[in-house]
Amino acid sequence: MSTPTPGRCTLVGAGPGDPELLTLKAVRAIASATVLLVDDLVNDAVLAHASPTARIVHVGKRGGCKSTPQAFIDKLMITAVHEGEHVVRLKGGDPFIFGRGGEELEHLRAAGIEVEVVNGITSGLAGMSSLGAPLTHREHAHGVVFVTGHAKPGDTGTDWVLLAHTAHQAKLTLVIYMGVSSLAHICQGLQSGLPAHTPVAVVQNASLPTQRQVLTTLGELVATVQGQDLHSPCIIVVGDVVQGARAWQKAEPHTAAQRIA
Ligand code: SAH
Repeated sequence: MSTPTPGRCTLVGAGPGDPELLTLKAVRAIASATVLLVDDLVNDAVLAHASPTARIVHVGKRGGCKSTPQAFIDKLMITAVHEGEHVVRLKGGDPFIFGRGGEELEHLRAAGIEVEVVNGITSGLAGMSSLGAPLTHREHAHGVVFVTGHAKPGDTGTDWVLLAHTAHQAKLTLVIYMGVSSLAHICQGLQSGLPAHTPVAVVQNASLPTQRQVLTTLGELVATVQGQDLHSPCIIVVGDVVQGARAWQKAEPHTAAQRIA
């Protein structure tokens, strides 16, 4: 039997940015942490709940610094838990939607540490809700696919052609994370299976005061994102549910492209 570890680790979703979107469990975990490891996309405002004596370590690449290597973060967490700390690993959105939450959990478990997970509101959901539109709808979408536009080095990445055909046939909404830098490639693949008039929403900095968004179509997506100078972090939502956005419903159909919501 392994020796029980004195400390503990909680993997906490900090939500998309707006601190009001934290769960009560997240607030409690942040308040009781003695060590907080904070990811890039976590709004610092959530740290207002932290104890003044807690050690706060930023491990993202904000401010132009290189992000902390994953192996270092894993080691830091494991060491701190073994030293008896309550480590809270704060991740943007939900810890299990991209952002390597699953990998960190595996490393902690391999070190004999059981991890509590506190879900957060993922940015793909928050971004769409902020436009007043759902991700599923009985008329328009039978399901939703959360997909990354950023493949692991050496991985072939998402098969956008296959995904487009599947989304079209099965009526699925596509929610693309980390898609801005490979947008031209993604669009090319998607257009082979989805019509050019498929509605698309792009939401930058969802739920934050700096939020910007645009409603467009698949055919106009690349030009719109470039023209509006949208940058990461962005959520890209592709599918008929986008028609539910307030701004889409207010506008004339022929002005669908490049509408700023
Ligand atoms: N775990 C996170 C996702 C981490 S991957 C979540 O559940 O939201 C990082 C990507 O998430 C970004 O590149 C972007 O695509 C998306 N993202 C995170 N926060 C965002 C925000 N506030 N607005 C728009 N996109 C966001």
